[in-house]
Amino acid sequence: MMQDFTLKSYQSLLLALQQAGYQFQTFEELIEEPVEGKSVVMRHDVDELAWNALKMAQLEHKLGIRSTYFFRVVKQSNVPEVISKIAELGHEVGYHYEDLSLAEGDMSKAIETFKESLDYFRRYYPVRSVCMHGSSTSKYDNRLLWKNYSLEDFGLIGEPYLSVDFNKVFYLTDTGYAWDGGKFATRDIVESNFGLKFHSTNQIVNCLKEGKFPDKALILAHTLWTDNMIQWCWLHTREFFRNNLKLLAKKNKWASKIYKKIVELYWKRK
Ligand SMILES: [Zn+2]
Repeated sequence: MMQDFTLKSYQSLLLALQQAGYQFQTFEELIEEPVEGKSVVMRHDVDELAWNALKMAQLEHKLGIRSTYFFRVVKQSNVPEVISKIAELGHEVGYHYEDLSLAEGDMSKAIETFKESLDYFRRYYPVRSVCMHGSSTSKYDNRLLWKNYSLEDFGLIGEPYLSVDFNKVFYLTDTGYAWDGGKFATRDIVESNFGLKFHSTNQIVNCLKEGKFPDKALILAHTLWTDNMIQWCWLHTREFFRNNLKLLAKKNKWASKIYKKIVELYWKRK
């Protein structure tokens, strides 16, 4: 059996989508001019490992696919060289915002840093879509910003969690190195009525071959996909412990504090 969440397995997924007749759209295209028939958006939240994002972007480019990369302001994500190269390859670049949690709930401070960061990412690409970062250890949901402000005021046309009807577009995410890892997610959860469940990439590929995959899909693939086996083993081990600590943190106050501390130490802002 092929190892999962490698660039090879990512390629097998992309090829299966192409062979099944899916058209690839960027997120802004889905919002502005969705195509008729089968289509898919590959969305990448670059939470960390920006150089891996570039490898995925190059692979997609080789296959004639354009996708969407959302970058954060933290140094693990915000790597100028990577952002420019991904934009040069013809992919969409968006802002993976977490301003409200960074500002500890201070709305006016958050909207100020949001504007600054949006302007910053617009140096690389005319950014028109943004996507919230889950900030699982923060009590502030970054999307709450849009209760007070509107996307249009910032020249934005879409936010995946606000602009897509997930009963019409099938949503899949690779959270925690599994396609059914939703139970580990804190905020990255959407409701839908498709009733499909996958664990491995191979199961998705088979579903595509059988013609049972929904016509419209938005697939969130983070940047942990790698062919470097040392990195692959380390990331699988880390995700295993993180998933379990996250589950524990949902039930236990102390586990929650420890998890929060680790996350704070890990994500230092640039
Ligand atoms: Zn994120």
